Parts: sequence; structure tokens; C-alpha cells
Amino acid sequence: MIIKKRGIPGAFAGLASLVSRISESDEVFKRIKSDYKNSRAGFAGELKVDNFLEELELKMPYYVLQNLNIRVGKKEVQIDTVIIHPNFIMIIEIKNMRGEFYFDPVNKHFYRLSDVGKKEGMRNPESQLSRSTTIINSFLRGKGIEMSANGLIVFVSRAGIVMQASEKRETIPLDSLVEYIEFLENRTKRVMPTEKCKRLALELLAEDRPEELVSIVDFYNVSIDKVKKGVRCPECSTIPMLRKHSRWYCEKCGKESRDAHLNTLKEYRLLFGPEITSRSAIEFMQHNSIYFAIRVLNNNAEIKKAKARYRLFQISDEKHLLSEFIWAELKN
Ligand SMILES: [Zn+2]
Repeated sequence: MIIKKRGIPGAFAGLASLVSRISESDEVFKRIKSDYKNSRAGFAGELKVDNFLEELELKMPYYVLQNLNIRVGKKEVQIDTVIIHPNFIMIIEIKNMRGEFYFDPVNKHFYRLSDVGKKEGMRNPESQLSRSTTIINSFLRGKGIEMSANGLIVFVSRAGIVMQASEKRETIPLDSLVEYIEFLENRTKRVMPTEKCKRLALELLAEDRPEELVSIVDFYNVSIDKVKKGVRCPECSTIPMLRKHSRWYCEKCGKESRDAHLNTLKEYRLLFGPEITSRSAIEFMQHNSIYFAIRVLNNNAEIKKAKARYRLFQISDEKHLLSEFIWAELKN
């Protein structure tokens, strides 16, 4: 049973929006594009693991939390997937990269070897897992549960080959994941009753922290005038749609929409942060009526300051409105 389902990651959605709204000739474009590609591969890998885990046929009930952000004491960690089973607790670290990978047991480096034999150092999934298991184990101890979490590193891409395996953690390809967990159930004994597993999963869910929103434009230090404005076509993702007879119209694919600006408002939030004035809303939507902006914001955002020259609103976090755009990005 899935207790927490993976949503659209804000960082990825923000990068997808920004990369399509900034000129390729901009000096920061290359960096944004590269971060966007990594972020897309990461999310696509996580979705693949989620799909594989749907095939699991375990004898006992178990609980899954996808993308858990948890803090215990001063330590905070983001965990790709947690499985809580009466016999074990499994933390999965997902890697979706191509190339030949090496875990260096001596100096703890993790690197990829390029075609010309150059070592490219990367964030070590072993250390990420150590951090996650430490935090989960201290959470378990806090609940009086004498059990330690297992860590597993899953390489999603068939073009990602581990040449030197980790000595600390199990490292498996995605194709073996289901079999690995089914086998683990068979060779382990029950430690917790099922009811306790469920309670534990719910307690972990209660600790899950909302994603921290960073204005991606601030993060890359991109000035607002460099960001292409306009409402995005929900059909073909083209920017901007044109305003015709109280509707949005896409010149590229002919799509007409009454409410495409609502998705664009969510993009604004990812790009610039949750606060928006009626003035910046019309600029971003490329609409000429301030009354239109006020009406849209009144209906779809929360008023923060009504008395200012331009009313200040707060846009809520509803990334599901960007689903069509995000799925199209993943298919590219
Ligand atoms: Zn279109």
C-alpha cells in the first residue's frame, strides 16, 4: 500500500519552466539546461522504480513512502523510497545515470569514467544512504523500535554499469529490484506486527516536511527581463498564447483555452516565488487588463496585502496543474 505518492518535484518543474523561457544565448543557459537534464533523469528514474515496485508480490502487507523529507534532531534528509515491511525497513536510493561507475572503498569517492579515461567525481550514494539510514534509525529508536533500516542503491539505466561495486551497500540494477525484495522477504523473519508497520508508516508521513520553495530565478541569478513571458499552451507547450475573444489561442497548434493562465500562474510561483502582484501577473500573462489579473488572482490566490498600490497575492502550491507540461517534458 502506498502511504505517500511521489508528486512532481518543484525543482524539476521550475527548471523545466525556466529552461523553456530563457534564451539559449544567455550565459547561464548551459548550466540551467544541464541541471534540468539531470533533474529530469532523476525524476524519470524514480518513476521507473515506482512502476517496478507495483509488480511486487509479497506475502505480507507492506507500506511504501515515496519522496520523504524528514528531519530528526538537526539532520534533514530527502529519501527516494522507503518500504516498511514486518520483516524489514528498506531505504532505496535511486540513480539514473549512464556510464561506468566506481565506488572507491579507500577514499570513499564515487566516480564515472569518461570515454577518454577521465574520472568524473559525483555525490556518493553510499553517503546519502548512510545519512538516510542514520536518520530513520534514530527515528525508530525514538519510537522504541529495535530495528535497523537496510539501504539499497538501485541503478535504473541499463546504460549505467557499476564496474566496482560498493562494499558498504547493496547495489543492484532496476531489473533485479522486484526479485531482490521478494527474496528478502523469504529469507528474513518477522520483527514487527503488520499493525505496527502501518502505524510507523503513518508516523513517518506525519514527519514529512513540505518541499522548500526556492525562487529558481533567484537561484540562478537570472534577471526578470531575461525570462520569456506569456501563457503556455497546454497542448504543445508553446509560449505565448494569444488573447482572442476572451480565450487563449495557440498560433502553433490551434488550441483554444479559457483557463491556460492558471497553469502559467503556477509556473510563476516556481520561477519567482509565491508572492505576486496584479501588475506582475498581467506582465507575466501578457494580458492588457489589470482587472483581468485581479479577477484571476482573487479567484485563484490568497490576498496578502489589499491596500498596496498593486494588491499582493500568494499563489498556492498546486503543481498537479502542471502535469500535462511535465509529462510532455518527460517524454521528450
Ligand atoms: Zn499549442
